[in-house]
Amino acid sequence: MNIDLHCHTTASDGVLPPRQLVREARRKGLALLSVTDHDTTAGLEEALDEGRRVGLQVIPGVEVTASAGDLEIHLLGHFIDPSDARFAAFLERSQAARIDRLRKMIARLADLGIQVDMEEVLAVGAEGSVGRPHLAQVLVKHGYVKGISEAFDRYLKQGASAFVERPHLPAEEAMERIKQSGGFPTLAHPGLYNGDRVIKSLAGKGLVGLEVYHPDHTPSQIAHYRRLSEELGLLATGGSDYHGFSGLHLKELGVSYLREEDRRRLWDQAVRLCRLKGLDLQEIPVSPNPVVEGSNVQDLSASNPSVKRG
Ligand SMILES: [Zn+2]
Ligand SMILES: [Zn+2]
Repeated sequence: MNIDLHCHTTASDGVLPPRQLVREARRKGLALLSVTDHDTTAGLEEALDEGRRVGLQVIPGVEVTASAGDLEIHLLGHFIDPSDARFAAFLERSQAARIDRLRKMIARLADLGIQVDMEEVLAVGAEGSVGRPHLAQVLVKHGYVKGISEAFDRYLKQGASAFVERPHLPAEEAMERIKQSGGFPTLAHPGLYNGDRVIKSLAGKGLVGLEVYHPDHTPSQIAHYRRLSEELGLLATGGSDYHGFSGLHLKELGVSYLREEDRRRLWDQAVRLCRLKGLDLQEIPVSPNPVVEGSNVQDLSASNPSVKRG
């Protein structure tokens, strides 16, 4: 069973527009997809609508950047309400801080003799949340670096010459906002920032899940985080963190990078996640042969009466 609870569209820093991403997931035969763009819900209406159209379960989601102690962490929020104006406004403030940070990084690059036009960076991230990957793309385009990873290594990663710290949003507040919007907060890819020391503390403050299955996690990290999730009573979620270009995680939707038994485990956890929302995922028939048209699929935003219908 192939599913994906973590992926990005052009609403943040992904390559595929929301509808196209959903069609790609359907083409690959995925049974469940959660769209989780960085700090925006802008792509969700289209993704949900396309899901209904092609017959794919789509869970509305988001990936919020927050801080826990001195760590910058990512929190996924599954089942947030895409029509929640208060949540959207909260994300917009976070977005404004993101743009302000980019301006500061561009100023640092200028000090290093590298001229980057803010408008060009914003244009790369045209439809939504803009960040370091867009700045990296512009640096590549103008030949300052050979690729995205060199851009990060030389200029943009923590501690590099043009890096600027993000304004801090406490993890507790981010989790609270996600919950207020009907969502369930999950700590994304703990292996990418050695998140062990914050997992326990967040678990005591309302964290619901841990992203155990991530393409950048080694098999021993997967085993470690699965044990930790069981110990702390957290859901063990997972996905591809698909952005659509290489150099950042995986260039393929779904969890075909996992062993069959882990894929089954992830499915069981997704069933539990949906049950938290009162939805019985297990009863939904999954077609092994993707069809392009027609939909008789249960709408996973259905239990939330305030969710707009496209
Ligand atoms: Zn992330
Ligand atoms: Zn992500």
